[in-house]
Amino acid sequence: MNKKSESKPTLDLEGALELSPSPERIPVTIKERYGHFIGGKFHDGADESLFETINPATKETLAHVAAATEAEVNQAVKSARAAHSKVWSKMGGAERGKYLYRIARRLQEKSRELAAIETRDNGKPIRETRDVDIPLACAHFFYYAGWADKLEYALPGRQAKSLGVAAQVIPWNFPLLMAAWKLAPALATGNTVVLKPAETTPLTAMALAEIMQEVDLPPGVVNIVNGAGATGAALVGHGDVDKVAFTGSTGVGRIIMRQIAGTKKRATMELGGKGAQIVFADAALDQAVEGTINGIFFNQGHVCCAGSRLLLEESIAEDFLERLQRRVRTLRIGDPLDKNTDVGAINSPEQYATIQRYIEVGRKEGANVWQGSATAVPDTGYFVPPTILMGLQQSDTCAREEIFGPVLSVLTFRTPDEAVKKANDSEYGLAAGVWSEKTSKLFEVAHRLNAGIVWANGYNLFDPASPFGGVRHSGFGREGGIAGLWPYLEVA
Ligand code: NDP
Repeated sequence: MNKKSESKPTLDLEGALELSPSPERIPVTIKERYGHFIGGKFHDGADESLFETINPATKETLAHVAAATEAEVNQAVKSARAAHSKVWSKMGGAERGKYLYRIARRLQEKSRELAAIETRDNGKPIRETRDVDIPLACAHFFYYAGWADKLEYALPGRQAKSLGVAAQVIPWNFPLLMAAWKLAPALATGNTVVLKPAETTPLTAMALAEIMQEVDLPPGVVNIVNGAGATGAALVGHGDVDKVAFTGSTGVGRIIMRQIAGTKKRATMELGGKGAQIVFADAALDQAVEGTINGIFFNQGHVCCAGSRLLLEESIAEDFLERLQRRVRTLRIGDPLDKNTDVGAINSPEQYATIQRYIEVGRKEGANVWQGSATAVPDTGYFVPPTILMGLQQSDTCAREEIFGPVLSVLTFRTPDEAVKKANDSEYGLAAGVWSEKTSKLFEVAHRLNAGIVWANGYNLFDPASPFGGVRHSGFGREGGIAGLWPYLEVA
């Protein structure tokens, strides 16, 4: 044990934070039934296609939602095509920008209600939907509104025009934010869209459709079809789609790439990850503890770029894990609508089962499984407490596969070379983090990491002006920033 690990904590927070319930009480409107948004109008969809969307924190049914058939997908693509050729591609950039600004402002006006709907449908804490998801969704529309009339500066000296109709398929972990990441650059560049939200989180996309009506967006510019994988497959495989933008698992990304191979469709793929957080002995350890927590327990670890592999320099490993566990014991798991909740519910029973299965696999492979939180784990819904797997080997399943839950896998290293080798020894390449007080070490290590994004002395920091995307099995193409415009433009 080294000197640092012998030192006692100066501030012991354990058991000190007894807080009264503080639920978000804003009334929200959730209809009993949702269908699709096609050609500027809401459609009921077929009765026989209805499925439920639930509140994963309570298991209560929130609404019934129709799954779009091939015929409905076809209608949505037709409507997007007509809006592109007749209206949107002909409109000047400044005019298009005005619509995007209006969407952004309306999102801001409704932000509290949207946050409360998202928290119910997804299970994530209101603190996160209120402070991260919705503000970032607004910021994306504001950012790309600014580009709409300045596209010539995105590609100096080149001529660019929109591609046409974009088919966009998104996951459930950041439902409204992922919709904003997809829609804002597509619309700014003059494309029209058919969007398919995830089956388990359709509600904020439907609220966004209402906003499209409220801002008088020309009919057909944005169409939204609900449904499961079959609806997504019908959409990306549709013959009159010019561009496919997918965010989701690497497995489904592969299926889609096979499906569109040999067509002229452009594609961007934002897929899974297994982000490494490298903490050197010279790092500010308490700051790195906060970054580690933000990296893996934010959004219950349902984050593609989650820092799910913690690589600790051996000399500080014991000390760091003590500090980390002490801090995790202060995290409050519980009602996602409570403003004091840090860790909410897992989005679906399927994902809950997947996470439990991985924890069991970790245990069987010899990991020391540690779980902790400040409050008791509720039995009302799908909750998994923050989990740390210690004593793992590089080849263990939980050190290699994406768990997509609040599960941190811990490994150690002795030299910077070993840290880089272990971090890069993954099929994924989305994000990584490096913690050190030495700037030269940060730069040296960051440049050697095979990942689309590397954060230094921080983690999970997002800005619409900053491109986001992966390498290797984490996908290709960028969303955000100037680079987020290029995949939606035909350049001459
Ligand atoms: P999935 O790949 O299962 O689903 C993503 C979306 O694709 C959903 O809307 C889904 O519908 C739909 N879908 C499923 N099958 C098909 C198909 N054959 N053709 C077209 N669409 C289909 O991922 P999850 O929703 O489980 O999301 C988690 C995954 O997403 C994780 O691996 C995570 O890393 C990744 N992700 C990546 C991000 C990035 O930017 N790189 C950001 C966020 C998440 P349905 O909802 O019905 O299943």
